[in-house]
Amino acid sequence: MPKIAIIGAGASGLFLSRLLRERPGVEIYLFERCKQVGTKLRASGGGKANIFNTLVTPDCYNHPEFATKILEKVTPKDMRISFESFGLEMCADEEGRVYPLSEYSQTVVDVLWNPEHPQIHPVMEYEITRIWHENGQWHLNDYPTAFDTVVLASGTPANMIPKNRRQYNSYLSDLHLEIHPWQPSLVGFKIKDYPKSLSGCRVKAIAELYQGQQLIHEEFGEITFKDDGVSGIVILNLSAYYNRLDDKRDCYISLNFLYDRDSFDVAAHLQQHGSLQGILHPKLNALYERKPFDIRNFILEVEEPYDLTFAQVCHGGIDVKEVDEHLAIKKHPFLYAMGEMLDMDGICGGYNLFFAFATALIVAEELCKPSKYSRRPRR
Ligand SMILES: Cc1cc2nc3c(=O)[nH]c(=O)nc-3n(C[C@H](O)[C@H](O)[C@H](O)COP(=O)(O)OP(=O)(O)OC[C@H]3O[C@@H](n4cnc5c(N)ncnc54)[C@H](O)[C@@H]3O)c2cc1C
Repeated sequence: MPKIAIIGAGASGLFLSRLLRERPGVEIYLFERCKQVGTKLRASGGGKANIFNTLVTPDCYNHPEFATKILEKVTPKDMRISFESFGLEMCADEEGRVYPLSEYSQTVVDVLWNPEHPQIHPVMEYEITRIWHENGQWHLNDYPTAFDTVVLASGTPANMIPKNRRQYNSYLSDLHLEIHPWQPSLVGFKIKDYPKSLSGCRVKAIAELYQGQQLIHEEFGEITFKDDGVSGIVILNLSAYYNRLDDKRDCYISLNFLYDRDSFDVAAHLQQHGSLQGILHPKLNALYERKPFDIRNFILEVEEPYDLTFAQVCHGGIDVKEVDEHLAIKKHPFLYAMGEMLDMDGICGGYNLFFAFATALIVAEELCKPSKYSRRPRR
């Protein structure tokens, strides 16, 4: 009976365990370092879980070519069919964001996870720190069972305080893979010479990320002014594009607070009313009165992204060249990697969970091939 170990009971690990338990005869060992499964899945989408996006395209990700290969195998329709087969009812908004109908992330965990299932062996509060392959089988720490296949699904330390992310994924050093250092993504920015008086202000604007003269990305939405920088979904998305730059010098954000008034004459308004208080947020207006600025081009010079503690995902991880089209690690037999621990990150809107679930679907398809274990080389 094939024994499969999954390292990490997060979004991708739970999804894979749900798919594999449909295959009679497979024993699934799910190793999880925390007390609970699906921690980030439950936190996602503000507790509503934006599980995928019907409008996903390869350029939503840092490696569009790799994303193309994934999307050729798994489409949003496939994702919907899978979740429906688990009994999850879903709803989508006009921007393609799909949520469970309950709008409660725990519902997603509940349809994926059944620790009582006879084929599932949960190993909770157990952190994998060592992995090696010997005599045709995989071994994890001093765990008494050896495995035919191991699936790496242990994510990244995004959104964790430094204490909890110490030694994160240290077992990977045993595998000698090319790994890109983690950088915070989907995160706000600290701003140089930040106007602290704006702290607490929330306004809508067109936000553009520039490097020198070059426009890197632009989006419209709500900006949140923090104590020393800016955040909000629009800014989080700018951070994903910022991370794609090799050289990150000379980056700044331009905010246009008059996004829907192209022909609006600011000078005429000022002349007639003596101030911009009828247009701008009071904190922005107070700043303008102290030191006038261009309200279509308010410049914020990027100092650096906020720390990993505040990031929704990590940029970096296992180089995508390390895996083949089935997400098998090329250097090792019967070893797979999926989800965020691969060097793949997407923008906000359900794209990261889509990637986690889509990669789990691809691995499941491969592991469920009838011939998968009959040809296994044994020494
Ligand atoms: C606050 C927040 C909101 C988010 N909102 C959204 C959203 O709305 N939509 C979206 O698409 N994405 C969202 N994301 C991102 C999304 O949650 C992640 O991309 C996704 O969970 C990644 O899935 P994963 O399976 O790769 O990793 P994870 O879900 O992080 O799971 C990894 C698991 O492995 C365990 N683990 C780690 N190391 C070990 C080890 N050595 N041994 C045993 N277990 C280990 C971890 O404890 C964890 O349970 C959000 C993230 C955060 C933090």
